[in-house]
Amino acid sequence: MPPIKIDLYSDTVTRPTAPMRKFMSEAEVGDEQKFEDPTVNLLQERVGELLGKEAGLYLPSGTMCNQIAFRIHCRPGDEVLLHRTAHPLISEAGGLAALSSAIPTGLEARRGVFSAEQVRAAIRPLNRYAPCTRVVSIEQTSNSGGGTPWPVQAIEEVATVAREHGLILHMDGARLFNAVVASGTQARDFAAPFDTVWVDFSKGLGAPVGAVLAGRRELIEEAWVWKQRLGGAMRQAGIIAAGALYALEHHIERLAEDHANAKVLAEGLAEIPGVTLDPGEVETNIVMFDVSEPASAVLGRLLEQGVRVSQPGPHRLRAVTHLDISRQDVEEALQVARRCFS
Ligand SMILES: *Cc1c(COP(=O)(O)O)cnc(C)c1O
Repeated sequence: MPPIKIDLYSDTVTRPTAPMRKFMSEAEVGDEQKFEDPTVNLLQERVGELLGKEAGLYLPSGTMCNQIAFRIHCRPGDEVLLHRTAHPLISEAGGLAALSSAIPTGLEARRGVFSAEQVRAAIRPLNRYAPCTRVVSIEQTSNSGGGTPWPVQAIEEVATVAREHGLILHMDGARLFNAVVASGTQARDFAAPFDTVWVDFSKGLGAPVGAVLAGRRELIEEAWVWKQRLGGAMRQAGIIAAGALYALEHHIERLAEDHANAKVLAEGLAEIPGVTLDPGEVETNIVMFDVSEPASAVLGRLLEQGVRVSQPGPHRLRAVTHLDISRQDVEEALQVARRCFS
């Protein structure tokens, strides 16, 4: 297989930049579990402030943020409402069932954004026959929904219904900052109604490892127990947390470049016969497109020419722009794509 020249597989493929590596190499470190790592402590405080929450907890991955949050919110047999394609439902190895003994119920909605009415209709009556609907979880931005940001208004409507019924609110903010940059809404305004919310540093923000879960102090204390129990408690983690701190300073505003590049890619792809997508729907860094041929055949031809994308469906491909993709890369990828289809 020829080498991958332009990797649009995911925004997880970014590598730490030279200045990020330098900053990491100089990080002050200590034993994170004893609260003696100043870099981890600072990262947790910064994220707490940015999200308007009392406390933050540095964890090795976004998956662990989701799973610990659900574990502290749910009792066995409880139900979690989330989109049918939400990450915890399709990409976390059944963790909701395996770790929380919870029932996930997937809601159907175009581009990942369900409505308050759907939530109202899904909440079960309180009786001893029905599982107890406990949590509503939303994904900001919706990954399978093509990077669609939830508007703050839609979040508030869902939150109002959830609160009326005493439900807990969780936000999977793997790409929260993409939504912030695309919409101009502040992170804390998106995060306000949520009991727990987390952001990932190893996606578009370009750090190598980690995510921070934030919420009220007592919830984060409970989350600490699970971090310890699952083996997510680390030692001199400041060396990797420094990458996340660096990303908060230097890699948020530049997400706008990724969004602009995704738009150019989408507009170019939309002109190719055999490709279907609406570039108007590309709001952040994820470009979902449908192909008339089997997607695996197209994917293979792109790969032979050094362009890697992913394949979420039999006729669907996904390309993601990120820190390591320049405008020039996008132009080249489009040239390759045009050749692949003619
Ligand atoms: C990547 C991702 C996760 C999981 O994050 P990891 O850090 O890879 O464990 C969760 N939710 C969404 C929407 C994601 O895109």
